[in-house]
Amino acid sequence: MRHGAPPQFQAEAALALPFETLDAILRHEAEEHGLTLRSGHGRSTWLEIGGGEFGARQDGTGSLVYARAHSRDWLFTLQEAAVAHLDEHVPGHVLRWTGPEQAGAMPPNFSLARVAGVTRIGARFLRLRLEGSGVERLARDMIHFRIVLPRPDGDTRWPHLSETGQTVWPDDLHRPAYTVSAIDPATGWMETDVFVHEGGRTCGFATDALPGIQVGLIGPGGGGIPRTPHLVIGGDETAYPALSRIIAAQSLQTRIEVHLLGATEDYPFPDHPGRSLHHVPGGEGLLAEALVDADGYWFATEKSRLQPLKRAIHGRLGIAKQNAHLAAYWSEARTGREV
Ligand SMILES: Cc1cc2nc3c(=O)[nH]c(=O)nc-3n(C[C@H](O)[C@H](O)[C@H](O)COP(=O)(O)OP(=O)(O)OC[C@H]3O[C@@H](n4cnc5c(N)ncnc54)[C@H](O)[C@@H]3O)c2cc1C
Repeated sequence: MRHGAPPQFQAEAALALPFETLDAILRHEAEEHGLTLRSGHGRSTWLEIGGGEFGARQDGTGSLVYARAHSRDWLFTLQEAAVAHLDEHVPGHVLRWTGPEQAGAMPPNFSLARVAGVTRIGARFLRLRLEGSGVERLARDMIHFRIVLPRPDGDTRWPHLSETGQTVWPDDLHRPAYTVSAIDPATGWMETDVFVHEGGRTCGFATDALPGIQVGLIGPGGGGIPRTPHLVIGGDETAYPALSRIIAAQSLQTRIEVHLLGATEDYPFPDHPGRSLHHVPGGEGLLAEALVDADGYWFATEKSRLQPLKRAIHGRLGIAKQNAHLAAYWSEARTGREV
């Protein structure tokens, strides 16, 4: 049941699938990702995601899929997520959205920015400063975005909207997920901290990037910042910028245990009176055995190394998915393109 008014921005798409099919898909997604599921008298079902929602309702013998949000860019992110998830469960169904978007325009959750500078902030970290007029939409509790790297030959064609309001990528551009480590929406700059690892295209780009080079930004996206009285968090270097944002956002009363699982220890974490830092390189297995009860858990590391933590938190400790964010930030086995 809904309490209060729905978010103001809305897009809908008719779908020739029975409502029961979409209801089952939404329930599966809620269970899989620990999302809040709502039901409107058995005729509509929706998921709450980052202040917005996406769901489906009965429409004759078919259904209407809808997304609602408090801003155009988050609405668009939800529409795109709906397309991707639907394609996973029932491939071949095209969603023709009604909504405010214009064919040919840039997607609302995409903008261009320019490299303002690159600074070394640790033996294996580069801080990339980006400036652009769309940067302010990334100043939220949702701390992640995708950086879209230009083609090395400089002849980059950026994405635009199709007539059905979906994103068309003329070039297959590399767009890995990163974290906003600092942002000033008023003057239009943001920073992201890039862990330098062998063969990485983003660290290669950041190492050579000259001021003025254009990149794309997609987002915001990903999980938000957990806030509970006793937090246990950790991850390898790819997670250090996110851990840093989580620490900085806690109230002074929060007790926060931070487990640094990467090899390096010179990343500039913010101070916090309730913070304890433990450096345990590659220690996911040992940490999993030692984990004790807390109110909230947040871990991100390499995909296979996450498994013992998942087993300990959801299995041994019986923590509900809503209270534990456990994310694979990269994959050792992967030779492909993106996380
Ligand atoms: C939500 C989210 C937020 C993230 N935030 C950050 C962030 O703020 N800073 C950051 O540095 N990373 C972050 N990451 C991780 C980052 O997206 C991946 O490391 C990604 O693969 C980097 O892309 P690339 O272009 O450098 O490497 P690619 O060119 O895509 O990959 C090249 C090779 O490097 C390997 N590889 C990828 N990451 C590592 C690693 N850490 N160590 C060793 N080998 C690796 C790949 O498996 C691949 O074989 C985040 C990931 C997610 C999902």
